[in-house]
Amino acid sequence: MNIPVSRHTGLALRLLVVPAIALLYALVGGAAALLFPSQGLLPAPLWPPAALALVLFIWRRGHGLVGVWLGACWVSFYQAGLPLPEAMLAGATSALGPWLGAGVLRHLHRTPVRLSRQSDVWPFLWCGTVLPSLISALGGAVALSLAASNDALTLATLFLRWWLSDAGGILLFAPMALLVLDAFERPGFWGQWRFVERLILTCCTLGVATMLFWQTNDRGGQLAVLSFLLMLPLIWTVARFPLWQSHLLSMLVALVAITGTAHSGGVFYVDSIRQAMLCTGTLVMVQSMTLLVVGALVAEREESELFLRDVNQHLEDKVRERTRELTESEARFKLVADAAPFPMVMNQLSDGRVVYANPRAEALFHYQLQPAQPLFVQSFYTSEAERDQIAGILRNQGTILDREVELIDGYGRRFWAWLSCTVIKSNGVLCVLTGINDISERKRLESSLKAANDALRRHVSEIEELQHGLREQAVRDPLTGLFNRRYLDSTLAGTLSHLQALQRPVGVIMLDADHFKQINDKYGHLTGDMVLATLGQYLRTHFRSDDIVCRYGGEEFIVVLPGASMEVSYAKAEGLRQGVADLVIPAGNGRLSVTLSLGVACAPEHGCDMESLLDAADAALYAAKTDGRNRVFRASSAGPVQGLTASHGDEQPV
Ligand code: GH3
Ligand code: MG
Ligand code: MG
Repeated sequence: MNIPVSRHTGLALRLLVVPAIALLYALVGGAAALLFPSQGLLPAPLWPPAALALVLFIWRRGHGLVGVWLGACWVSFYQAGLPLPEAMLAGATSALGPWLGAGVLRHLHRTPVRLSRQSDVWPFLWCGTVLPSLISALGGAVALSLAASNDALTLATLFLRWWLSDAGGILLFAPMALLVLDAFERPGFWGQWRFVERLILTCCTLGVATMLFWQTNDRGGQLAVLSFLLMLPLIWTVARFPLWQSHLLSMLVALVAITGTAHSGGVFYVDSIRQAMLCTGTLVMVQSMTLLVVGALVAEREESELFLRDVNQHLEDKVRERTRELTESEARFKLVADAAPFPMVMNQLSDGRVVYANPRAEALFHYQLQPAQPLFVQSFYTSEAERDQIAGILRNQGTILDREVELIDGYGRRFWAWLSCTVIKSNGVLCVLTGINDISERKRLESSLKAANDALRRHVSEIEELQHGLREQAVRDPLTGLFNRRYLDSTLAGTLSHLQALQRPVGVIMLDADHFKQINDKYGHLTGDMVLATLGQYLRTHFRSDDIVCRYGGEEFIVVLPGASMEVSYAKAEGLRQGVADLVIPAGNGRLSVTLSLGVACAPEHGCDMESLLDAADAALYAAKTDGRNRVFRASSAGPVQGLTASHGDEQPV
């Protein structure tokens, strides 16, 4: 775990590291110098500090050069007795050699050097042993010969001895140190060695305490300062052991100290046991207080660490649980969507990229969704404007229901579909989930139904036209286009009763062409037909649309005038007689004219039923005929007819 430190604290710690390393190097160098007395044995047969420097540089990735240099200078100056410049030179090469060797090893491997691997052993021999020892031997030999002004042979001998000394030191100590460090960095190391560590520490601490307070016969208090060294293992135990064990050890140390002082005076004895006991008591008190304060600090830090670790574990569990839930939910969604009975597509809202399509959608569009080939929903639409409109609605409202859209599949087939879209969030990204209902079959049925409907409608209107024609044929006379006698028979009775209820008169004019037989005889039957058609046309224009004009049979016509009095009907009849008489009808190479005889009756004067009225009008017509033709006669309410002479005399047809 990294403990956050401020910039200044970090700098201070770094600055402390330099003298610490220098001290360590000097201690090891000093021990080696003590081991090999300097007279005639410089360089020493084995130089362990070279191994220390190399391991430090490998372990600390090249840091600590200044510390090693200072330590080496100190050893060369004090232990070897070299003058300061030569000592500095020898110190520099002693530091530089291992530093370069460690740098080359680091450059070659990048990973920590592990001598348990054969691939690491050869580089270690060449770069970790030969190279550093050569460099430091060169510097050392030069420094020694400068100090003693040696000749070349002596210089070469010195160089060789120095090189063997450094190489031997490195080969003897560095592999062991590197292997221990390697094991130290592997998990489980501390759990495995914790018990041994406690045992060794406890024995050593109690051993030192026994030596200081039971075995020392120093009566001048010269070694009293050494008692403070006991604080070091005790503080170490605070950091490494449970607090109660530290206090137990502290108590044992105190017991040893007090009993030892009481027994023989110990290291504090100067002139009396009382004075020595006072010092020992003070030491024990300071020791206990220090343990309490430092122990509480360490325990609090450990508690905080534990709490943070628990919180971290809790958070990690939660994240793991949430991830599992999400994965399960995604898997569930995929399961449901894959089994959905309709096509489904999911795409990113931002760019339309398809992130999921169920098998039915792939079958509908004839696309296979593959991670290597991105697919965009834009390619499913036939109209880009429509697609933009849909995207706009989704951005604003978030949903669309059953929108009818024309789509296109991978083979270019166009089809109609209903789209229902919803905006959802998937893995923090806004996506559109679309359900598709292919309605192309339904559309096809609709259009064929519409075509069938149109055909049916046309058919019905043709039938209606035919029916109308038939109805017309049934009530119309084909030659003149006027109503026929059947129509008159079916409508006249109704018209009469209706107008009678309204107390209004109904005029009836019966008319007959004069001497028509002669026209037929003279001009032929076809000309007779043509004359009858002309008469029909004239009759139709002469009367109002409300009046019923019909051909009663042969060349005989009847006109019913609803609401017309006798006077009005008579005037109309007279106008007709004159108009027809004035008609000039082209016939073959010449022209002909025709006259009419007319009888006029009126309801209610001449009866209110059809039969009476027609009889009265017929009688009037007969009277007009017998009176000479080309005349209008009124029906008489009292039997036979009361005649009126024609205004145009007795003209005969040509
Ligand atoms: P009037 O009425 O003046 O006494 O003499 P008329 O010659 O008109 O009378 P009549 O009743 O003797 O003759 C009627 C003739 O009308 C007989 C027939 O040939 C002719 N006629 C009847 N219907 C048609 C028709 O549809 N077409 C043609 N061309 N002639 C017809
Ligand atoms: Mg006639
Ligand atoms: Mg007639």
